[in-house]
Amino acid sequence: MLDTQVVVVGAGPVGLLLAGELRLGGAEVVVLERLGEPTTESRASTLHARTMEILDSRGLWEGGDSPASDSRGHFAGIPVDLTLPGSRPGLWKVPQFDTERLLARWAAGLGADVRRGQEVRAVTDTGAYVEVVTGDHAVRAAWLVACDGEDSTVRRLLGADFPGHDARRELLRADVAGIAVPDRRFERLPDGLAVAARRADGVTRVMVHEHGAPVPVRTGPPAYDEIARAWKRVTGEDVSGGTPLWVNAFDDTARQLAHYRHGRVLFAGDAAHRQPPIGGQALNLGLHDAFNLGWKLAAEVTGRAHSGLLDTYHTERHPVGARTLSTIEAQALLLFGGPEVEPVRALLTELIGHEPVRAHLAAMIGGLDVRYDGVGARLPHSIELQRTGRGLLLGPADILDGVPYAPAEHWTLVRPDGHTVWADPSDPPPQEVLARWFGPPPT
Ligand SMILES: Cc1cc2nc3c(=O)[nH]c(=O)nc-3n(C[C@H](O)[C@H](O)[C@H](O)COP(=O)(O)OP(=O)(O)OC[C@H]3O[C@@H](n4cnc5c(N)ncnc54)[C@H](O)[C@@H]3O)c2cc1C
Repeated sequence: MLDTQVVVVGAGPVGLLLAGELRLGGAEVVVLERLGEPTTESRASTLHARTMEILDSRGLWEGGDSPASDSRGHFAGIPVDLTLPGSRPGLWKVPQFDTERLLARWAAGLGADVRRGQEVRAVTDTGAYVEVVTGDHAVRAAWLVACDGEDSTVRRLLGADFPGHDARRELLRADVAGIAVPDRRFERLPDGLAVAARRADGVTRVMVHEHGAPVPVRTGPPAYDEIARAWKRVTGEDVSGGTPLWVNAFDDTARQLAHYRHGRVLFAGDAAHRQPPIGGQALNLGLHDAFNLGWKLAAEVTGRAHSGLLDTYHTERHPVGARTLSTIEAQALLLFGGPEVEPVRALLTELIGHEPVRAHLAAMIGGLDVRYDGVGARLPHSIELQRTGRGLLLGPADILDGVPYAPAEHWTLVRPDGHTVWADPSDPPPQEVLARWFGPPPT
């Protein structure tokens, strides 16, 4: 006897988006979250273009204020204009607790059962079902998805192969009241890198990397004293008299699971890949994992999936994760490097002046250039019909939301995650294409 069809471990942004997508696909879902209350840390505060399109496609911003956007992005601190065709180009500033609140409300409205104060301590995959044990109860499900973050308990319990490298460099951060230092975006100094941004409320976010500084093994956030001393060595400025409101350190550890599926257990978000938050890619990458997985797993548990559909989660998302980690690594090398990287930075700055290079980087940063093997590009704009999370078959004459859909003269088959899998000027998709993505026709 199962308690539910899918158990999701972790009610971070990735677990919550996944839970909503599973519900849209008709699957029963229980989310187990260790924390009794949602986090109040701002953490990842940037949503990129594709993430905004995804949230729009499910109507998440409807009825509320759209966040502020900015077309000024960067690659390793080198400015990149993110202007591109599409409905949501650019950077969108949303503190992570707001993203989580939005997703939690949406998932709960769809019937996801989110249970807080439940820390998963044991996982057994019997081959027929998965059992997870928290402090006071056990839950049996056909599938488990680990969305339990970069220190994933599920990953550890399963001993999953997580290759990559440990920390080599570190960036210290603090939100500080009562200091007056000049704003700087990415100031490159002889002894390191410094960033300072004063907010309207007078609090300044400072970030500092010191060339050649060893990376300590940390069991908690750094002391503010340590950050103030590093700031002084790199910039010469004294911020020791400030009042720290938040302190944090991140390093450039980078690892990715060798396999996103282990038997009846799947991994998504930071549980599947660990990376520094450079360029604000981490959260966006994880949300895209959830958007790819949700409809496939829902089809699997409701008996609609073609055999092999679920395995396309790993084959599609693992290469995207590997590429994103590689571009984050490139940024870390260029950002934290000393004088030896200056010639490469100068060359890259020159190249970004060429429109094809700028557009290439802007699409990559925005997550708009993702292609899966044998699958077409994404539907370029959100339409009312996508709210349901179902696939769409658009005929040649279809006009979407009053806008002729390009290419309007085509038959177009669209997966629930917005990617086209058939486009033909004269023929609708044959039965095998429909069956591959949406299962056999009901008898
Ligand atoms: C302190 C901090 C600062 C960050 N700053 C930035 C930033 O500035 N920019 C940026 O782009 N990214 C930043 N990140 C990264 C970003 O927050 C993550 O990429 C994003 O949260 C990943 O989402 P997720 O849902 O995969 O994992 P998480 O958000 O980590 O969610 C995992 C959830 O699982 C829960 N959980 C863990 N173990 C268990 C268990 N055993 N049982 C039940 N529940 C469990 C956790 O409580 C948590 O709610 C930061 C992360 C942290 C921790």
